[in-house]
Amino acid sequence: MEFEPVIGLEIHLQLATASKIFCSCSTEFGNPPNANTCPVCLGLPGALPVLNRNVPEFAAQLGIALNCEVRLDSQFARKNYFYPDLPKAYQISQFDRPICENGWLDVETESRGKSRIGITRIHMEEDAGKLVHAEGSTDSLVDLNRAGVPLLEIVSEPDVRSAEEAKVYMEKIHAIATTIGVSVGDMEKGHLRCDANVSLRPCGQKEFGTRTETKNLNSFRFVKQAITYEMQRQREEILDGKTIVQETRLWDTDRKVTFSMRSKEEADEYRYFPDPDLPLVRLSPELLETFRKNLPELPEAKQQRFMKEHGLSAYDAEVLSADKEISAYFEKILSYGASPKIACNWVIGELTRVMNESGKSLDEIKLSPENLADLTKFIESGEISNKIAKTIFEEMLNSTKTPAQIIEEKGLKQVSDAGELGQIADELLAANQQQVEQYRAGKTKVIGFFVGQMMKQTRGKGNPAVINSLLKEKLDG
Ligand code: ADP
Ligand code: MG
Ligand code: ZN
Repeated sequence: MEFEPVIGLEIHLQLATASKIFCSCSTEFGNPPNANTCPVCLGLPGALPVLNRNVPEFAAQLGIALNCEVRLDSQFARKNYFYPDLPKAYQISQFDRPICENGWLDVETESRGKSRIGITRIHMEEDAGKLVHAEGSTDSLVDLNRAGVPLLEIVSEPDVRSAEEAKVYMEKIHAIATTIGVSVGDMEKGHLRCDANVSLRPCGQKEFGTRTETKNLNSFRFVKQAITYEMQRQREEILDGKTIVQETRLWDTDRKVTFSMRSKEEADEYRYFPDPDLPLVRLSPELLETFRKNLPELPEAKQQRFMKEHGLSAYDAEVLSADKEISAYFEKILSYGASPKIACNWVIGELTRVMNESGKSLDEIKLSPENLADLTKFIESGEISNKIAKTIFEEMLNSTKTPAQIIEEKGLKQVSDAGELGQIADELLAANQQQVEQYRAGKTKVIGFFVGQMMKQTRGKGNPAVINSLLKEKLDG
C-alpha cells in the first residue's frame, strides 16, 4: 500500500509598512529591545488600537493578485491565549470575516505538472513579541519591538501534493508579494514564515488522514526539508501500525528532524470574539477597482513576456521575473542594446552571486546597467572571452570605469588574429615534438596540452575557438 501526501500551508507575511498595525510605533528592525513600543503595543489598560490604513489596502492588493474575493466590511477578532510575549493575553486577528477568501494560485512542478492551489483565506493580524533567553541564565527576557507588526496570514486549501510543490508555492507567493510591493520579503528577517500541515492517505482513498502542523519554517529550503522529513516519519509510523496524532511540531534545523511541541489546540479553545475596540474595516468597490487597474505586471506574466519577447528559457525567465529589482535591471540592460541571453546569464549568474556573497542589494552594488550592457556586447562580438569578462566584471564592481577603459588599460582584448596565434602555435609545435608525435599516433587528447600552453602564452587572451581550429589544422595537416 502506498501513500499520497496531502499538504496545506499557512504563510505569515510581514507587510512593508513603516509603522505597526494598531499604533504609530516604528516597525524598523534591529533597534534596542522595547525601543519600538507604546501603551498600545505594550497592552497597557485603556490604550486603544487604531488601524493603520495601509494594512487592509495591502491585504486587498494581495488578495486581488491571488484571485480572491475581497470583503468590503471585514472584522477583527480577538484570539485569546496566554504567553509572555503577548501582553494583552489576546492577539488581534480575524476569524469568521477575513478580508479575503476563495482565491487560487497556479504552480508548476516536474512531478505533477501544472496545478491550481486554492487559497482559503487571507486575514490580517498583529505579530507577537519575542522571548530572549539570556545565555548562562535561566531568565527569559521579553522584547516587544515586534508586537503589533502587521502580518497577513495566507491559508491554502489542502491542495499541495509534494514537498517540492510546497516550496514552489511559497516562492511564488514571495515573488508576487514583493512584486506588488506589499512586503519587502526579506527572508533573513523572517518576513515570510510558513506552517506546513502534512498528512498521508493510502493512494486512492478520498478521506484525509490525520495531519501534523510544523510551525515557523522561515526558508524555502526548510519548507521542503521539513515536509519531506514529515512524510517519511508518518509513513514509517503508519507502516509500524501506529496512529498519527494531530499535533504541532517544530523543525530542528541542525538535526534536520521535526519534533513534537504540543498537542494541537482547537479553534474554539481560543474563544474568538469580535474585537469591540475596532470598527468594521470598510473598503469601497471603487478603491478595489483602482487596485485592480494599477496592479503591476505579475511574475508569471513577466516570465511569459520574457520568453516571448527575448527568447529566454522558461527557467531563465522565471528566475529573472521572481524579483522586481532584478527584472527591472535586466530590462534596463537590454535597453542599452545587450543581447538577452548573455545579459540574462550575467544577471542571474555573476550579479546574483555577488549580491548573495556580499549581502548587498542591487542598489548598493552600484553597477551601472550601461556598463554591464557594454560588457555583454564585447563578449558577443568575441572581442573578449568569458574568462576575461569576469576579470573586467570584478573591476567594474570597484570602479566607475567602463569596460572599454578597463580593456584598454589592462590590454585585455581577446587575440583572434590567426596570423599572430598561428605563429605562436608553430613555435609551440616545434618545441614539443614528442607531444606532436603522440597526437599523430592517435593520442589526440594531447591537444589540450597545446591549448593550455597557448592560453598561457597569450595570458588568457587567446580566442579558444580560433586556437582550437588552428591547432587541429596544424596537427592533422
Ligand atoms: P487550524 O486553524 O486549526 O490550523 P484549518 O482547518 O484552518 O486548521 O487548516 C489549516 C491548514 O491545514 C490549511 O492550510 C488546510 O488546508 C490544512 N489542512 C487541513 N486538513 C488537512 C489534512 N488532513 N492534511 C493536510 N493539511 C490539512
Ligand atoms: Mg493553523
Ligand atoms: Zn506601539
